[in-house]
Amino acid sequence: AKEQGGRQICFFTDAMGRELIARHRLERDLKQGLIRQEVSLHYQPIVNLQNGQPLGFECLLRWHHSEQGFIRPDIFIPIAESSGLIRDLGNWVIETACRQLAHWRRQGWSLYASVNISTRQIPDGVAPNWLLKVTRDLGLEPAALVLEVTESVFATDLEAVTDWLREVRALGFRIYLDDFGTGYSSLSYLKNFPLDAVKVDRTFVRDMVEQERDRALIRAILAMCQELDLQVVAEGIENAVQRQLLCDLDCAYGQGYLFSRPLPVGEFEAFLKAHAS
Ligand code: C2E
Ligand code: CA
Ligand code: CA
Ligand code: CA
Repeated sequence: AKEQGGRQICFFTDAMGRELIARHRLERDLKQGLIRQEVSLHYQPIVNLQNGQPLGFECLLRWHHSEQGFIRPDIFIPIAESSGLIRDLGNWVIETACRQLAHWRRQGWSLYASVNISTRQIPDGVAPNWLLKVTRDLGLEPAALVLEVTESVFATDLEAVTDWLREVRALGFRIYLDDFGTGYSSLSYLKNFPLDAVKVDRTFVRDMVEQERDRALIRAILAMCQELDLQVVAEGIENAVQRQLLCDLDCAYGQGYLFSRPLPVGEFEAFLKAHAS
């Protein structure tokens, strides 16, 4: 039994060792990838649900690894977070998103850009004054930039996070609460934190057609947000039935494959042209 136990420990550490090495390698590759321009942004429209017109876009990070091909953000974002690289990466995302937005604005598209901010970037990774400088240098008003944060920010240093949110919002930037309903949801956050909108997680949208309970939840979220003067963006809309149900519930904004997948720059421009009103 003892011998077996020893072997188990051995297998265990082997597997852990392999995983650790793979992780370190990815970490190193990601650092290089940022320099070698292997990362890019894809853009997914956020639309007016009634008429389908794009109002803004969410910027989603993509990494094309030189050997392994595309690696999903679900895999590499946590690595960037634990290694601290998320700060450089996150700043790159913000600058790239703003530059792209400024370019599209010059072409006459009146849109806003929405970027994902990791909890690890708040409060020290993204200085409010730096945000102001980035937008100002590009001739963008702060309201043109939306910062998407998840409920996990509330599980960290609440006071520091609140200060950061207040400061950023006082400068005119907008804050969306992402993946609403999946995390450490507490309704008091909605009441006490400076937010502009909540993004209802796609799991609710996915199940709302079949499940009366999910429909009831979305209805309740919409009613509550209306009371609190918060906008609602429904995520992950994949079909016309979901869109219709959301419209019937007076949900104003949405995002999902029904309208468009996240697209590289050129394809997103083609999407904009196809939807010019
Ligand atoms: P998220 O912020 O919730 O982004 C929405 C995700 O849902 C994206 O996955 C998007 O491609 C996907 N999606 C959009 N519409 C639909 C739909 O109709 N159906 C389904 N099934 N999925 C849809 P993606 O691009 O793989 O990103 C995954 C997550 O990675 C994001 O979730 C976000 O948490 C994180 N992420 C992506 N880019 C960044 C970034 O620049 N910074 C940080 N910190 N996180 C990022
Ligand atoms: Ca998001
Ligand atoms: Ca989300
Ligand atoms: Ca997410």
